[in-house]
Amino acid sequence: MSSAPPALFTLPAPRSPASRPVKPMTVLSYGLGADSTAILLMYLEDPVRYGLEPDLSDLIVLHAVTGNEWPTSLSYVDRLVLPLLAERRVRVVQVARMGFSDSDGVLVLEDSRATRHIHQAGPWRLSDWLVTGGTVPQMASGRRTCSIRFKGWCLDHWAVAEFGQRAFRRVIGYHAGERKRMEKDTKIQNRLNERAGRVICEPSYPLIEAGMDRAAVEAYVLQRLGEPIQKSYCTFCPFSGVCASRDRHEARLREHPDLAAEALAMEYASMALNEPMSLYGTRSLYEQLTEDERNDAVLTAFEERLDASPFSLYEVRRLYLPGRTKDCRHHHGDRCARPRWWCRTERTAACRREHAVFETGADGTRTELPPQCAGLDDGCHGNPVKGPAWRSVRTVWEGPRLEAEFTLMRWGREDGVQLRQGERSMIKRLHYLDRGEGYPAAEAYLVAAPSGADDKNRESFERRWTEFTGLIGPRWEPIRPLVSHRRTRGSRTVPVIRPSGVAHVPALAAA
Ligand code: SF4
Ligand SMILES: [Zn+2]
Ligand SMILES: [Zn+2]
Ligand SMILES: [Zn+2]
Repeated sequence: MSSAPPALFTLPAPRSPASRPVKPMTVLSYGLGADSTAILLMYLEDPVRYGLEPDLSDLIVLHAVTGNEWPTSLSYVDRLVLPLLAERRVRVVQVARMGFSDSDGVLVLEDSRATRHIHQAGPWRLSDWLVTGGTVPQMASGRRTCSIRFKGWCLDHWAVAEFGQRAFRRVIGYHAGERKRMEKDTKIQNRLNERAGRVICEPSYPLIEAGMDRAAVEAYVLQRLGEPIQKSYCTFCPFSGVCASRDRHEARLREHPDLAAEALAMEYASMALNEPMSLYGTRSLYEQLTEDERNDAVLTAFEERLDASPFSLYEVRRLYLPGRTKDCRHHHGDRCARPRWWCRTERTAACRREHAVFETGADGTRTELPPQCAGLDDGCHGNPVKGPAWRSVRTVWEGPRLEAEFTLMRWGREDGVQLRQGERSMIKRLHYLDRGEGYPAAEAYLVAAPSGADDKNRESFERRWTEFTGLIGPRWEPIRPLVSHRRTRGSRTVPVIRPSGVAHVPALAAA
């Protein structure tokens, strides 16, 4: 009759490695809006029904901080949603871009099971990127570059650091009216999984499964939280579908004249550097706001902000390069660094070499004629095709706004260049080189705009500028040298930074 001796301490239960598949974690990318809030509330109410552990220990709520969210959206989540999550000790992770360059990495602003605030901003906000670039949010190949760069990119790299090779379940808040988006998303994920040769993550769409459309989602959140939820998006977001309806958006701008003024100033700088670059394709936010007199206070706030802003005189030069044509592809194959130029454009260095035409005066002096080539000869005609546009921005003067505009006028007089107003923006510019027809074409002007845009041009800009225009460098002396940003596109090493001092990380302690 022997019984086992009493254990001095409990031994860890033997694990059976590799036999039991590990249950994947569930990651909800939380955009602070109605859709993802509804999903959270559904999870809190009945975790097991949605495949979660009863204590929600396998749920991670992941939020990418753009830095330009409406304060009312932040406060809604802080007041009504976070306490519910903290009560159940749900892990909330907040991430943001660390800087301009991808290699600066992703910063974990907070990783906690007792989150009390959504961070207003990380070290590098979307607006920082736009203002230093002198531009507004844009689409490229049908995708919003801002959202990819400041949300998707952060979330993806955080997930790589967190899960490595382990698969997880990715929850997306598409509602029943967004089946098309769901299908597209699933397709993309399947392709990514295939390419990686493993399941990176399984997408999950609880609202679509529940058959809830936008109205049902909003009603559900209202019923649970007792306060209507507003759309969550960046204060200057120009995209319909992301941004609220025009009425609601303008009402929000009126409630926050400071943020409205910031959006308008961003648009002003963008249009100063590139006339068509307003927030909305064919109209500017400014034009739109002037149509309703209730917006007067907002417009006044904007004017005051401009008056108080430091201003710069920017010399903007733009090259509209030719794109590849059928001929070019035919003669030069798949790659051609120099799609051919057409002679009907402004005289260029290349044009001069090919078609120099001189007039000999009575005293024997030879003067070069303006380009007369009509492009009729074989080998010099063809339909120009639009290629990339290159821009150089150099700061040549800095000071207060009023002085900036006087300086612009004075320099115009001194150089005999007339001021011209932008058709839509009414912004005055000194155009010293007008854009010719076709491609390549070049234009250059001096314009006053709020300071903030970085000096920028790509390395080969000057060479090509001289080639096309015969001009050397900027016309006015830049006040600072060009700092070239490292090109970091497609950079593989993206650190995910968890500074120990920034936030305590109870989630890690508990792990
Ligand atoms: S809310 Fe609009 S501006 Fe902000 S990241 Fe998304 S698409 Fe871009
Ligand atoms: Zn070619
Ligand atoms: Zn020519
Ligand atoms: Zn010619």
